[in-house]
Amino acid sequence: MSRVIVIGAGLAGLSAACHLIGQGHQVTVVEREAVPGGRGLRRVQEGFSFDLGPTVMTMPELLDEPLRAAGSSQAEAVPMRRLDPAYRGIFADGSELLVRDSTAATAAEIEKLAGAAEAASFVDLEADLARLYELELPHFIDTNYDSVLDLLAHPLAAAGLVRRGAFGPLQSMINKRISDPRLRRMLTFQALYAGLSPATALGVYAVITYMDTYRGVWLPEGGMGAIPAGMAEVVERSATIEYGRSVTALLRRPDGVVAGVRTDGGPLSADAVVCTLDAPHAYRTLLPELRLPRSLRRPVYSPSAVLWHVGVRGELPERAAHHNIHFGEQWEGCFEALVDRGELMPDPARLVTVSSLGEPGLAPEGCHTLYVLEPAPNLDGRVDWTAEREPFRERLATFLDREGYPTEIVTEHLVTPLDWAGLGMGGGTPFGLAHLFRQTGPFRPANHDRRVPGLFFAGSSTVPGVGVPMVLISGKLAAQRVEQWLP
Ligand SMILES: Cc1cc2nc3c(=O)[nH]c(=O)nc-3n(C[C@H](O)[C@H](O)[C@H](O)COP(=O)(O)OP(=O)(O)OC[C@H]3O[C@@H](n4cnc5c(N)ncnc54)[C@H](O)[C@@H]3O)c2cc1C
Repeated sequence: MSRVIVIGAGLAGLSAACHLIGQGHQVTVVEREAVPGGRGLRRVQEGFSFDLGPTVMTMPELLDEPLRAAGSSQAEAVPMRRLDPAYRGIFADGSELLVRDSTAATAAEIEKLAGAAEAASFVDLEADLARLYELELPHFIDTNYDSVLDLLAHPLAAAGLVRRGAFGPLQSMINKRISDPRLRRMLTFQALYAGLSPATALGVYAVITYMDTYRGVWLPEGGMGAIPAGMAEVVERSATIEYGRSVTALLRRPDGVVAGVRTDGGPLSADAVVCTLDAPHAYRTLLPELRLPRSLRRPVYSPSAVLWHVGVRGELPERAAHHNIHFGEQWEGCFEALVDRGELMPDPARLVTVSSLGEPGLAPEGCHTLYVLEPAPNLDGRVDWTAEREPFRERLATFLDREGYPTEIVTEHLVTPLDWAGLGMGGGTPFGLAHLFRQTGPFRPANHDRRVPGLFFAGSSTVPGVGVPMVLISGKLAAQRVEQWLP
């Protein structure tokens, strides 16, 4: 049995651990916090349970894969149900659109909002996006790259993507099929998940729209915190998770091969190490003797976000859903400010997630958890976050009041890009490197470094990228590297 250490019990680390268990290794996960989850941490405060990170869970089958590798399943370890509605879009003209739990039900909502022709276009779009997903997932996402030439390994799939406009702008791809400006926003805002504007994101990212709008948004029993909790429980059936222990250095043999890690609780030896820290942070803190790989020398980070977690007492607006996206009047101008100029959005779109609506146990009786997210520039932008913190909070409070959410605040917690940076996230963004073409696939920081044999990377700063589905895959890709490395 070979010994493998996984640094970090976020979703990437837990996925890697599950796959490594499945391969028969002796696995130890080392996590600096007292609980699993990483960016998906749960914070319990005055009787409220706040999920601090991801709230939009898509593609449960990608969670099933690591859990099955470790002898369990998603249904057993993290039961969940499909949300209906998945999203409620609220537009500046006062109209609303519900994205429902089936294409037909959403099409019926679109017909009410924008007419039968738009509804038919929405239905037609599904087959095209499904094909994109089928072409991209096995050939370009769920795959390890050894060289740029690997991009040419599947010429038919690549040709299929070109034919479908996947290498043109996402916005143009959608605009060709959809005319209603509100529906266009609902089908392209997902570009931001990849750290880009709809005008600059490639059409390949329409697969994110496919994943949430057509394949559904899911709510785990007990809320999003149930995902890392369930995964950790499965990992601990066959491996050890050392909580409250920070890795401070990588141990290497004289020939440079990895020999384990040093932690604040002493050294741990291993035959291979999977590191899930943000890659820039990992190189600076664990491998200071190495020059940064080229892909990390001039990184372009995704925009960041300000999160306001509020525990409130009172009634929700009548039509409130689990995920409420409040769009402003402006659109392109907001992305230009945020992405191009590093400024606050002049007329921001905001996400309000009310996890306690579907999981009342997350808040005391008569109360709700509000998760208010506004996209914001990362630390390469032009905002002085020390000065901006309080005015930002005030604006979010005014917004909640205007939109009819309860205003009696019982408890709260505000997170700005400075806080993300304090947690070791490059550029002060929890969303890692933007998915520009030059930071994607074989151009993204690789999940291995030939200068450090036996060290592998997983997580959002390496392949395939950001978000729950992607980091779950990244754990599998890292485990495949380990499998090739160890005899
Ligand atoms: C606010 C927010 C909203 C999001 N929304 C969504 C969403 O709706 N849908 C979606 O799919 N994705 C979303 N994401 C993205 C998604 O959550 C992340 O891409 C994913 O969780 C990253 O997981 P990870 O394992 O790569 O990193 P992390 O979760 O950061 O895991 C790294 C782990 O390493 C630990 N660690 C760090 N340093 C050390 C050390 N020295 N020693 C030991 N342990 C250490 C950390 O404590 C952490 O547990 C969101 C993220 C955030 C923050």
